[in-house]
Amino acid sequence: MGALAVVNARVLSAGRPAGDPETVLSVDGLIAAVGSGVDVPRGAAVLDAGGGSVTPGLIDAHCHAYGVSLSLEEMEKWPLSYVALKAARRLEGALRRGFTTIRDVAGGDPGLAKAIREGVIAAPRYLWTGPALSQTGGHGDGRNPLYREPDCCGCSTNTVDGADAIRKRVRELLRQGAHAIKLLTSGGVISPTDPLEVPQYTPEEIAAAAYEANRRGTYVTAHAYSPDAIVHSISNGVRCVEHGNLLDPPTAALMAERGVFLVPTLATYDAMDRRGSEVGLTDVGRAKNTAVLDAGKQAIRLARSAGVRIGFGTDLMGGLEDEQLQGLRLQCEVEGIERTIEAATATNAAILRLDREVGRIEPGLAADLVVFGGDVRADPELLWEGHRQVVLGGALVS
Ligand SMILES: [Zn+2]
Repeated sequence: MGALAVVNARVLSAGRPAGDPETVLSVDGLIAAVGSGVDVPRGAAVLDAGGGSVTPGLIDAHCHAYGVSLSLEEMEKWPLSYVALKAARRLEGALRRGFTTIRDVAGGDPGLAKAIREGVIAAPRYLWTGPALSQTGGHGDGRNPLYREPDCCGCSTNTVDGADAIRKRVRELLRQGAHAIKLLTSGGVISPTDPLEVPQYTPEEIAAAAYEANRRGTYVTAHAYSPDAIVHSISNGVRCVEHGNLLDPPTAALMAERGVFLVPTLATYDAMDRRGSEVGLTDVGRAKNTAVLDAGKQAIRLARSAGVRIGFGTDLMGGLEDEQLQGLRLQCEVEGIERTIEAATATNAAILRLDREVGRIEPGLAADLVVFGGDVRADPELLWEGHRQVVLGGALVS
């Protein structure tokens, strides 16, 4: 693969003090050196940032490659060939925006992961949970209540009830190579019949999933909005909370005490609020979205003051995928630029347990980089609006 030197770039990486432009040297896909006196080997490709910025490759910890519609029902009924081809386009779009790692927390499968590994499609590093597990009538149950339909076992969500059935399904997903397990432990916006705040699954069901995941060296992450649902999840072994919009101070304190991460997904509520009718959000979905929209930013403030580690996710379904960078803008409005970059790089890497591989600009880690033409610290909107060049594993994404 050879060497690539990003020169004349201000390095923006968690824990590294702001400084003058430096050089980041990548050799054979890994960062070999960072600093002002780095020798660029003869023959290395050179990318001159012109005094701009370089960040670690961005990580989106809440994505759905197969989330090609805002209708759960539609998504599960279309042929997987169509869904997978659309997924390929979605992943390529994410990579071009600077997301070099994606955690897919409802969807993906060994076939999509194999195609990415083999370079069949241009895509970020891809970690998938497979279908999110839902109780019957829960957030993953997209059936229209007026239709007579069997419960579904789709590619984005599975309805599975009972601790033994969950245990078997978790074992099966882990056998297939799932990165982690996603449980739906409260209502959600786009599902037709479940109240948002009500906890889903029993303690025994959640604990069975957590036991099996932990035993394989991985973890459970849970979709949960209300304090009840969050407490219910983490008391039964969940390590990471997705969304968390209705968080309150005691629940934030419990998350911090247990070392549970929060992955906020501000982009999706903002996008559904502005563009919901254009992309087919139902009236039920619209009402639910209103209930969590404004709370999302407050949840981040509460989590921060309690000491919860905060990551970054987007959760954009269907035609809303092009809003991915807006998530950075929204999180920056609450947290500022440095914490937002840290959330979307180093903290997300820790959530994914990839912090020895990605998420910082340090020798030995993968050379996943985003190069901006201007100083992102001084001009934060460059992060979501500016032109960028993306480096994945030491190779410039063309
Ligand atoms: Zn989601």
